Amino acid sequence: MLIVMQHNALPGDIDRVCGVIRELGYEPRAMPGAERTAVGITGNDRPIDADRFEGLPGVREVLRVSSPYKLVSREWQPANTVVTLGTGVRIGDGSVVVMGGPCAVESEEQLMRAAEFVAATGVRVLRGGAFKPRTSPYGFQGLGLEGLKLLAKARERFGLAIVTEAIDAESAQWVAEYADLVQIGARNMQNFALLKQVGRLGKPVMLKRGPSATIKEWLLAAEYIACEGNSQIILCERGIRGFDDSTRNVLDLTAIPVAKGLSHLPVMADPSHGTGRRDKVTPMARAAVAAGADGVIVEMHPEPERALSDGAQSLHPGEFASMVRQVAAVAGVLGRGF
Ligand code: PEP
Ligand code: MN
Repeated sequence: MLIVMQHNALPGDIDRVCGVIRELGYEPRAMPGAERTAVGITGNDRPIDADRFEGLPGVREVLRVSSPYKLVSREWQPANTVVTLGTGVRIGDGSVVVMGGPCAVESEEQLMRAAEFVAATGVRVLRGGAFKPRTSPYGFQGLGLEGLKLLAKARERFGLAIVTEAIDAESAQWVAEYADLVQIGARNMQNFALLKQVGRLGKPVMLKRGPSATIKEWLLAAEYIACEGNSQIILCERGIRGFDDSTRNVLDLTAIPVAKGLSHLPVMADPSHGTGRRDKVTPMARAAVAAGADGVIVEMHPEPERALSDGAQSLHPGEFASMVRQVAAVAGVLGRGF
């Protein structure tokens, strides 16, 4: 339930509303906005009588939040959330953000070459997995902590923000220490213990959509993070499982406007995992931005043929630069910054 205050409500009116919520045994969340303050109630396991609030001074209206996810819903917060990374990069403010880099951190030489190239294209966020959730136990599992240290070095050298994945409780602690943005991968979208933990780490989180998750399940997963007090969440559509093996996944472009309609959180797209094929990545990056994505995260490798993971979907450096130019052009047509 959301109690919307009149724009000229006094602080005492808001305190009174919060007091009634506490009397009912729940925790109020006051959300001051540009036009009005709203006070939310979460965690209620039974319906609350709106009469308790409707007559109070300063109250404009009492709204029921009908979606099962509350904090991340547009009903709860009509204005877009803007996620700000440690380096000052903003995601969700209407501009288009590109994140790029290798699937996995493989060596210092590989990462520095990739980072130098990413920075030279004007991209300000470097991706690279240090902890890799691989389909096969025989696949390259990542350099772990050593990979994070290399990412930190690239951050220093090229002034890039870092996004990298946490796969479990232990890696989440490390990732939060080194990265600007903590990625929760598709396979962990419903790892609720991990979601709760990253909700408490104090770093922005990028939550990828599970390969078979509905949009509702994805938003409920984001709600787990928000419930722990972390509202700096980015959603990332990365393709869902389909019946056609022409591509690795089906990049669900429709999910972008749907998620943006249902939630105030920024929505990114990952056309690399969404297609699995290098030659399909740039067209789908363009399409994702045209569909309203707040940005794209794209895999590139200095030598994709030698990549230890996801080489087939990793762009060559020249292709990456071309993708960035095309995405910027689409952003320009839409009157969006880049
Ligand atoms: C990745 O970003 O390299 C990755 C493993 O992504 P996803 O979780 O979407 O498969
Ligand atoms: Mn990958």
